[in-house]
Amino acid sequence: MATLYQSRKMTMPETHPEHLEFWQAAAEGKLLIKQCDSCGEYHYYPREHCPYCMSNKTTWKEAKGTGSIYTYSVMRKGVPYAIAFVTLDEGPRMMTNIVDCDLDAVHIDQIVKVVFKQSGDHDNPGSFIPCFTPVNGD
Ligand SMILES: [Zn+2]
Repeated sequence: MATLYQSRKMTMPETHPEHLEFWQAAAEGKLLIKQCDSCGEYHYYPREHCPYCMSNKTTWKEAKGTGSIYTYSVMRKGVPYAIAFVTLDEGPRMMTNIVDCDLDAVHIDQIVKVVFKQSGDHDNPGSFIPCFTPVNGD
């Protein structure tokens, strides 16, 4: 039996001024991550200082938006949903929701791509949250 994804209200993550650019890009359907100018490593969530070398020279980069599921958990109380850690092709891992699919078919190493879902927060109706959905054929 399949557990189909249903739209649900998501709470807007806490936003920091340094993440403004991230949310503006999300509204345009772009996933931004940060790359360190000093050591070249990508990281997420976005920080002012590189977590690898502590450099404060970091630059926003648009991620390809594809990755694979590192681990996941399906919540079945109320409206079912899947929380996962997705490893982006660029390397960083992000905590996210897996959407628009059969939640029973979600599996580790599944190839996924980013989709943006509106948070449904009435105070902040313009906010789009990056979620991931399986790439067709997987
Ligand atoms: Zn660095």
